Amino acid sequence: MINVTIDADGIATLCWDMPGRSQNVLNEASCTALFEAIARVVQDDAVKGAIMTSAKPDFIAGGDLEWLLNTDQAAVLLERVTALHRALRKLETCGKPVAVALGGSALGGGLEVALAGHYRVAADNPKARFGLPEVTLGLLPGGGGTQRLPRLTGIQKALPLLLEGKRLKAGEALKLGIIHAVAPAGEEVAAARAWVLAQTAPVQQPWDVKGYKVPGGAVASPAVQQVLMAANAMTHAKTWGNYPAPQAILSCVYEGVNVDIDTGLAVEARYFVQMVLSKEAKNMIRSLFFSMGEANKLASRPPDVPRRRYSQVGVLGAGMMGAGIAYVAARAGMRVVLIDRDQPAADKGKGYSHKLVEKQAARGQLAPDQAQALLERITATTDYAQLAECEMVIEAVFEDRALKADVTRKAEAVMPAGAILASNTSTLPISGLAEASSRPEQFIGLHFFSPVDRMPLVEVIIGRQTSQATLAHALDFVQALGMTPIVVNDARGFYTSRVFSTYVLEGLALLAEGVAPALIENAGLQAGMPVGPLALTDEVSSELIVKIDRQTRADLGAAYQPRPGHQVAARMVELGRIGKKAGQGFYDYPDGGSKRLWPGLAEQYPRAAVQPDVAQLVERLITVQAVETVRCMEEGVLMNARDADVGAILGWGFPPFRGGPLSEIDTVGAAGFVQRCERLAASHGPRFAVPALLKTMAADGQAFYPPR
Ligand code: NAD
Repeated sequence: MINVTIDADGIATLCWDMPGRSQNVLNEASCTALFEAIARVVQDDAVKGAIMTSAKPDFIAGGDLEWLLNTDQAAVLLERVTALHRALRKLETCGKPVAVALGGSALGGGLEVALAGHYRVAADNPKARFGLPEVTLGLLPGGGGTQRLPRLTGIQKALPLLLEGKRLKAGEALKLGIIHAVAPAGEEVAAARAWVLAQTAPVQQPWDVKGYKVPGGAVASPAVQQVLMAANAMTHAKTWGNYPAPQAILSCVYEGVNVDIDTGLAVEARYFVQMVLSKEAKNMIRSLFFSMGEANKLASRPPDVPRRRYSQVGVLGAGMMGAGIAYVAARAGMRVVLIDRDQPAADKGKGYSHKLVEKQAARGQLAPDQAQALLERITATTDYAQLAECEMVIEAVFEDRALKADVTRKAEAVMPAGAILASNTSTLPISGLAEASSRPEQFIGLHFFSPVDRMPLVEVIIGRQTSQATLAHALDFVQALGMTPIVVNDARGFYTSRVFSTYVLEGLALLAEGVAPALIENAGLQAGMPVGPLALTDEVSSELIVKIDRQTRADLGAAYQPRPGHQVAARMVELGRIGKKAGQGFYDYPDGGSKRLWPGLAEQYPRAAVQPDVAQLVERLITVQAVETVRCMEEGVLMNARDADVGAILGWGFPPFRGGPLSEIDTVGAAGFVQRCERLAASHGPRFAVPALLKTMAADGQAFYPPR
């Protein structure tokens, strides 16, 4: 676990090497080993100094989240962090020099352990990152990070790491004083050893030296007060208080950095336990860490199908989506045949990759030869014959059934026998599109999101005839792109578009009820959604909502139940205010200026005399999405809660602190959620009607996720 060796000079090397794991983590066993190793360094008179390092590529990846979440007992959690604090304090106050040699990354608990050393030397490793990303999972650094880091760098410089979870490269960490030196890769242990040997007097941390002052000023200094106040206001404004961790981190700094470090650590321990037990952290850890991790490891992949590696793929249609898909495939090292109906259109699609790599090269994120190689992998053409060696072809032409059928036939005429044809349609059922295919078992939906290079989700849609092997190989492709897949069964709007639209339409319904537009938008943001429903409608355009509404009405006839919001979208189209692309929708989009709510809305939708409480609106905007998600589960569109929650967070920005629509229901409890739906259905109609699945769950006391 931690191998301790003592050499002839009396230097102990504590080498982390947790068996059976690719990374070292802090958990019950490794903390016990750490405490024993520290006790030995402190108590053994033969030990003159110590080096802590790792036999793995990275130092310590952080705390083991399974371990952290395996108890709900505050006293147990408090004892765990306090024990770690005690051990690290013992190490840093023993007087013997302790150097930490970092061959790779030190993040979270890993960096916190390293901060208890007196000297940190990092290898010159471009992959290594240093930071305290706990906040991104709703936690705070509980191993002393909120206390040691600001005491080391000053409060102002520590805040971006603590509040945003910023990860630094070795050079940046050196500049901030988080590490003391960078050594050539492989020489970091020798450099650490040289430093330990050079120490002739007892060593102390700066904060244990009498008269120590926090660099840049203490909490009480006017400049720091100003920074803390601004940070406080900003975190609140950005998150509407939905995320308690940034506030707790600020409290740790505010209350802890002015007092002695032991008191500061006690403050941190208290807030840390509060955060671990918070529903926000539990939701974020479940969805952003565990569920997303499972999705990325292809938990939905049919087993026993051999993996497929992709070297060449085709993309039909070099428009906005096709150009983006070509770029991410080339970025992943694949050769790409990018086809459009004429050469200038195909070239324009490749031009998109040009722009992206140029930007990255200018920022130094991509070497010129890498940029060149990426572009060379993309062939822009009109010639379908070039698809002859493509293992996968993604269709991204206009949203038109006949056109999609035509290009499918053309492509399949030249594609190799085992190749897959994937449609990027956003609204057309996959099984219908597969009717044009001569091999429907090798036809699947791969729904990318715009902009493709920044949106990590791919909704994989299984058609009626899609084979298990095709599903497995499509998932291999998504994984090779470095993106996150969710798997759904074919249905109108699939999963993401269907549930996302309920948020938008509920916002429009509120407008029709006479709720003030600014209140609707604020409610969306307070609910934790990234954009208000009216602004979002303008982004997708009221025209598209109306088009889908008409198509659904034509397909379903009497069975179709439009939502009240549809009428509002239709009205906006009549008024010619179709959305952002027309420069006018619910907002005006003046050239060069920022958008403003259209004053004419007051005339179209007069305000009701009594405005609802914002909390009621938040409840409606979130509940409408959660109910529709349950319907997707009930109808078998979704196959598990994991894909529902991951898809919602990554696909349309469902608030991570809620953990996704199904985590939201678990947080409220099925019984409570049923009551909520019944109440909303009574006043707002059948779109809130309780799905039978939820009634059963409430009656049986079930949840979507088993307790961890
Ligand atoms: P787009 O209009 O930007 O691009 C479509 C491209 O297809 C154009 O370049 C056009 O010249 C080309 N094309 C038309 N006929 C062709 C033919 N016979 N052969 C080859 N190329 C042909 O559209 P887009 O936004 O990129 O959407 C493409 C598909 O992706 C649609 O099915 C759409 O529903 C879907 N989609 C779009 C989004 C989005 O946000 N725009 C998101 C997900 C999925």
